Order: sequence, then structure tokens, then C-alpha cells
Amino acid sequence: MLERVSNKLNTYDFIIIGGGATGIGIALEASARGYSVVLLEKSDFTKSTSSKSTKLVHGGVRYLAQGDVGLVREAVVERGLLNQNAPHLVKNQSFIIPTHGLFDELQYTVGLTLYDLLAGKLSLGRSKRISKTKTLKRISTINPEKISAGVVYHDGQFDDTRLAINTLQSSEEMGAIVLNYCSVFGLTKNNEGKVTGVKFKDEESNKEYVIKGKQIVNATGVFADDVLKMDSPNAEKTIAPSQGVHLVLDKSFLPDNDAIMIPKTDDGRVLFLVPWHNRVVVGTTDTPIEKESLEPIALEEEIEFILNTASRYLTKAPKRSDVLSVFAGLRPLAASKGEGKKTKEISRSHKIFESKSGLLTMVGGKWTTYRKMGEDLVDKTEKNNGWANIPTKTKHLKIHGYKENVDRTNPLYFYGSDEEEILKLSRIEGLDESISDSLKVIRAQVVWAVRNEMARTVEDVLARRTRCQLLDAKESMRMAPVVAEIIAKELGMDDAWQKEQVESYNKVTSNYILN
Ligand SMILES: Cc1cc2nc3c(=O)[nH]c(=O)nc-3n(C[C@H](O)[C@H](O)[C@H](O)COP(=O)(O)OP(=O)(O)OC[C@H]3O[C@@H](n4cnc5c(N)ncnc54)[C@H](O)[C@@H]3O)c2cc1C
Repeated sequence: MLERVSNKLNTYDFIIIGGGATGIGIALEASARGYSVVLLEKSDFTKSTSSKSTKLVHGGVRYLAQGDVGLVREAVVERGLLNQNAPHLVKNQSFIIPTHGLFDELQYTVGLTLYDLLAGKLSLGRSKRISKTKTLKRISTINPEKISAGVVYHDGQFDDTRLAINTLQSSEEMGAIVLNYCSVFGLTKNNEGKVTGVKFKDEESNKEYVIKGKQIVNATGVFADDVLKMDSPNAEKTIAPSQGVHLVLDKSFLPDNDAIMIPKTDDGRVLFLVPWHNRVVVGTTDTPIEKESLEPIALEEEIEFILNTASRYLTKAPKRSDVLSVFAGLRPLAASKGEGKKTKEISRSHKIFESKSGLLTMVGGKWTTYRKMGEDLVDKTEKNNGWANIPTKTKHLKIHGYKENVDRTNPLYFYGSDEEEILKLSRIEGLDESISDSLKVIRAQVVWAVRNEMARTVEDVLARRTRCQLLDAKESMRMAPVVAEIIAKELGMDDAWQKEQVESYNKVTSNYILN
């Protein structure tokens, strides 16, 4: 793809800066409509916020409580479409809200019935009140003293980075050029000040490229200001990041199939406990942070808050030593302008900002609505540039790997239709040896990730092509040398490269471990 992109004669319809959920959704829609697309990611795809979500495909029950019906309606429709388009990665997840007293029961039953109605035909199942006995039967680890009954509702649950990789594969199959480890460091402009292209550097070779595009899109999440500064050096700061942390626990803390949603913790936040890849993800928090970074670090008070709240609702209190991994992601919030004005969250619904140069910046939204965000951005581009409107082509587009009725007890289930190819590779090249019995990863997955999923580093494989870093950080560090050796063989790298890879993986991953 680097070779293709270096052809200076091309002018691409879209150049997208940023390979998180937003950029990936735009690349899918634009390539599905037949446009030529280049997507550039400075690190690995979803390295930032998009690999650190709560893993929910949801309308957002809490936004309904805030009266944002339009936002919830849009998200529950997208939830239903994603469930149809990527059934190997998205599943219907039942949640139970533990209630305290009749008012709670009524409030949540009525509210969640409205939530179901908003989804119409795309509803994932009816909400209902269940008795205390039934609640205790369904969630064997819930503290009986904390509940009077329960309300069950349904949302979607997914694997964020696996969806990103498969969506990028779909875009690539429709002609898009998608490149990781390529960072944009400047924009090119014509005499009228209109942006005409980007300058980027291949981080592996340090080679610089200049490419031309008709529509340049800034989809860099919490880094949006960096690109806005490239467009206009005096651009004001618009983003103030806020951090959300999750802890991962062993399945014994929530051994049954239902997730728990605690709608009002002591400080008014929502807390989820969700089964994920045979573990439990617990979170999240909302803490203002000074500076954006690709590897935000969980704060002690965030960890304590999650452990304390979970302990109150579970019969077995999770301790620090039970935490298999801790990960943090950043939300782009609007920076406060002047004293006295409160920071206002812009991340709930997505927004498109137009710069005088024609640059479009998309921020906010959520993973659940990534397809719709792509549709809106491409519609806006067509309108702004006077191009004919091509109706969206992604509503019913099956995502790469599409497979119905996957058996989720199969350790390779999330590859969907690619599983067969991986097993074939494993048979032909003798790659069936396990590299982690507890995480159930085999050598073939590493080779597959390098050959077919653009993995370039140990971290790409352990954090994002498989989810070992988030599922058991210590075990993933133990796996790192073997993974480095397999990748080195594939990419023709030497021992020094392997050593450096393992060291840098361990350095990053030590932040995912609680001492
Ligand atoms: C704690 C938390 C939990 C969440 N949980 C959920 C959930 O359960 N469900 C849901 O639907 N949504 C959830 N969200 C929202 C969702 O995760 C985000 O909306 C989404 O991931 C944002 O994607 P993005 O592409 O805008 O940003 P990012 O993921 O940050 O991607 C931006 C990318 O741009 C790249 N970049 C930056 N500068 C450059 C440059 N100069 N050149 C090239 N590339 C560059 C970065 O490396 C990065 O990869 C959650 C968000 C948070 C913070």
C-alpha cells in the first residue's frame, strides 16, 4: 500500500488522518460509495481510545435519563445494524440493574421499556422487572443485601479492535489504502489557502511522503488540536481530555451470563460489570486529564473507586491482586473557554467542524455509531464540494469475517469466516502449538496477524490483534519473547529487534499491572 500511495499522480477523494473508530467508519463509507481513500494512522490502528472502550454497542441508557432521545434513537438503530453486519463480533448481551425499592423498580422498568421502543424492529429483547430471587439466581455473586429486585434489559457487546481490523479489511477490499505507523505532520495548501493534501512520515523507514486529496479529514480524537494547528498555527485549544479506566477480573467474579449495570454509584456515575472473552470488564471513570497521550495511565483513585464500588455489589470483594489488567482511554471533551464556564461534554453526539481551508474535523460520538458518523461525514463532503450525492452503502454491508451463529466457546470464534483460513495455515505450516494455555492463543494467530492484519510489532499482536494485554497483562508479558521471535521470522528482523520489542512491550504493559 505504501508503494501504491507513493504514486504522485494520484489525487485521492478522501485522505483521512487517524485510524480510530471515527476514521475507520469514514473510510468504510467513502470506499463503499466508490471514492478513492487513503487512511493514515500514526501508531497502530485503534492504539488510542478506540481499543480502550467498555466494549458495549449501546444506545446509552444514561443519555435517555438525561432526556437525549434523538441521540439514543440513533444509537439503538446503529446497534441493531452492527449486530446484523458483524455477528461474529457483536452479541446480544443481557444486563441486570440491581434495584433498591419500588421507586427504582418503576423508574427503570418504564425507562427501559421506552429504550426498547426506540429501537423498534431492531430491538434486542424486551426489558422486564425480575424478582429478587430470580436476580440472585441469575447473578450468583450479587450481594443480596444491596437489592430489592432487578430489571433486565438488552444491549450489544463487542470487541472494539477486532471490529476495527475487520472494517479496515472491508475498506481495503473495496480499494482503500490504509496505513498504520504513518504520521501526518503537515498539510499542503493552494494559493487560496485551501487544503490540498498532507505530508506524512513512514515511522518505520522515516521516509516522508506528500499526497494530494480533494477532502482532508481530521479524525484524530483527543489529538484533533494538533492537526488544527497544522491548518492554522493560531488555532485555539478545543479539546480537554477526560480519562475513563477499566479493570479486568477473572470470570469467577461474574460467572453467569448476565452483565450488571449500576446506574448510580456514590458519586453519580454509571458502572458496568460486563463478561468479555471469559473475563469481566469493570468500569468506567471520568477524570479530567491535563495532557493527551497514546498511553494514558490509570490513577490510584480511579482504581480504588472501581474496586470499592464493585465490592459493595458483589459477594466476593475484588482486591488489587485480583486485577488481571487495568486500561485507560481518553474522551475528547470541549475545553472550557474562560473562567466560570464549565467544561461541556461534546463526545456524546458526534460533531463536524469546518475550517476555512476546507479541512473537516470529526470528534465525539461513539464506537456504536461509527458507521453513521462515516455516512454523515461523506454526505457533508459531497454537499460542501458540490459532488452528486451517493446514498449510503453501509447500512447492510457485511463486515469482513461475517459469520452467523459463531460458537463463542471456540477460542478462535472472533475471526468469523477467517477461522477456517487460520486453521488451514496452522495445519500446512505446523503452527498449532499453543503460546498461552490460559489465553488459548496459538502460533498461527501471530503469523496470521502479520500476514493479513498489518501487525508490525509485539504490542500490535498482544494488545490488539489478540486481546492478551487487556485480558491478562502479566501472562501477555510472558508471551512477548515467543511472539517477537515469530514476528521476526515473518518480517526478517534480527535478535536486536526482538530484544528491543520485548523491552518496549514490557515497559508499556507494566502500566496495566497493579502492584
Ligand atoms: C473510557 C471510554 C469508554 C468507552 N466505551 C464505549 C462503549 O462501550 N461503546 C461505545 O460505543 N463507545 C464507547 N466509547 C467511545 C468510543 O470509544 C470513542 O468514541 C471512539 O473510540 C473515538 O474514536 P476516534 O477515532 O475519534 O479517536 P481515537 O480512538 O483516539 O483515534 C484517533 C487516532 O488518531 C491517531 N492520530 C493522532 N494524530 C495523528 C497524526 N498526526 N497522524 C496520523 N494519525 C494520528 C491516533 O494515533 C489515534 O489512533 C468509550 C470512550 C471512552 C473514553
